[in-house]
Amino acid sequence: MRRNMVHKLQQQGVRDEWVLSAMRAIERHRFVDSALGGQAYEDTSLPIGLGQTISKPSVVARMAELLRQGAPGKLGRVLEIGTGCGYQAAVLSLLAAEVYSIERLRGLHDKARDNLRHLRVPNLHLLFGDGRIGYAKGAPYAAIIAAAGGDAIPQAWTDQLAVGGRLVAPVSTGAAGVGPQALMVIDKTAVGLRQTVLEAVNFVPLKSGVA
Ligand code: SAH
Repeated sequence: MRRNMVHKLQQQGVRDEWVLSAMRAIERHRFVDSALGGQAYEDTSLPIGLGQTISKPSVVARMAELLRQGAPGKLGRVLEIGTGCGYQAAVLSLLAAEVYSIERLRGLHDKARDNLRHLRVPNLHLLFGDGRIGYAKGAPYAAIIAAAGGDAIPQAWTDQLAVGGRLVAPVSTGAAGVGPQALMVIDKTAVGLRQTVLEAVNFVPLKSGVA
């Protein structure tokens, strides 16, 4: 089923071999409730509890491919905002030297730790906190990826991005973090930030504080 899922990703235009092999390796069914296991390899988002969802495989692949931007090897340090069930963090752990992943809901932070136990990924660091302030201790990051969308990119994220690094995040195009979202790419160059707005996406909202 997983090979079939990856085959479909290729048909949709995902070319990056690193991304394809990571998605072939990580068992998505282990990150969703067993009642939903039968749908784990369909290209659909699924509930993971506390009103949140696991992103669909095509979106995880698309964002990972954008993050890698064709890099010849592994990325350096990566920051993920919104651990959720830990699936995307597991995929990223195969694409980067170190992954720091932050979740603001204690219940999901704990769930991700349980879900990831079988993988034993020493380069993946799960953090509980408000990801809108990033994680300064791991900075600068080669890449930053958000799985939740607000009305703007928090300045902490671009501050913590390395020069030459790339950030990929959903951003609401309407006021106050509501309305349609688009995928935004920010490249940090020696002369400043370069921003590109891509296709429409549909992520859960980026919220403040912890719960
Ligand atoms: N990548 C995840 C997707 C989870 S959905 C996966 O593979 O399952 C996005 C997650 O972002 C939710 O769990 C939500 O609680 C979390 N989130 C929203 N705002 C946040 C914030 N400010 N800091 C950290 N996590 C946040």
